[in-house]
Amino acid sequence: MAGISPRTGREPAVSIVMSGGYEDDRDDGDEVLYTGEGGNDASARRQIADQTLTKGNLALARNLTLGTPVRVFRGHRLDSKYAPPVGYRYDGLYRVEDMWAASGIAGFRIYRFRLRRSEGQAAPWTVQPGVLGPAPRTAGWVQRVVRDSALSRRVKELHGFRCQVCGITIETAGGFYAEGAHIRPLGSPHDGPDVEENILCLCPNHHVMFDLGSLTVGDDLGIVGAPGKLRLVDGHLPGQDFLRYHREHYAELRRPPAQSEE
Ligand SMILES: [Zn+2]
Repeated sequence: MAGISPRTGREPAVSIVMSGGYEDDRDDGDEVLYTGEGGNDASARRQIADQTLTKGNLALARNLTLGTPVRVFRGHRLDSKYAPPVGYRYDGLYRVEDMWAASGIAGFRIYRFRLRRSEGQAAPWTVQPGVLGPAPRTAGWVQRVVRDSALSRRVKELHGFRCQVCGITIETAGGFYAEGAHIRPLGSPHDGPDVEENILCLCPNHHVMFDLGSLTVGDDLGIVGAPGKLRLVDGHLPGQDFLRYHREHYAELRRPPAQSEE
């Protein structure tokens, strides 16, 4: 009952099966918090050991990095109103939006993946039997969505659109370009606030590195993953709590893949 396949960890996952074996899963239909594999007692349906960033978990990390969607199947034993009544059902393409490490309900380290159903597909749970839904579009390739709130705009302006990691500014005909990076991510389950203390002004490279955990910031504002310290300007100080949250959930994703077997 391997949920993620293939599990070599050398290539992105093609499919995952949600069948209810993991107590930390959460299913909202179009959005899923999927628990990585390993450390799980399938019969008791609970975690009994830490998960590692190997095999299927590493495969899903590649989906995130490459932007490759994954096919999601739900099984009837899944404890969710979106589960099919019998058997297994193919529920379409989902993209891996985010991943992080967390302490699960049972206290062991788990990897969590936020999956979002790609648009343009009729959801099986909304289609009446015998009625054809709209034909699914194969919009599988995804562009990163960069949020820009009024606050992130202000943070960027305070920094003169200069990356707080490398100090570069990107000048275009339309003005300077930088990205506002939320330190503790917005949205459930992170629920980071949209406040200036929770936003960094970063260039696109360092934004991606930050979101993928390849770059973190210490309490002393020293940068792990790039040289130097976080650049500061008057009037904007990132919150230590937010930086700590980011480290606790994302820092270990930058470790090279473990070679050992589970
Ligand atoms: Zn930069």
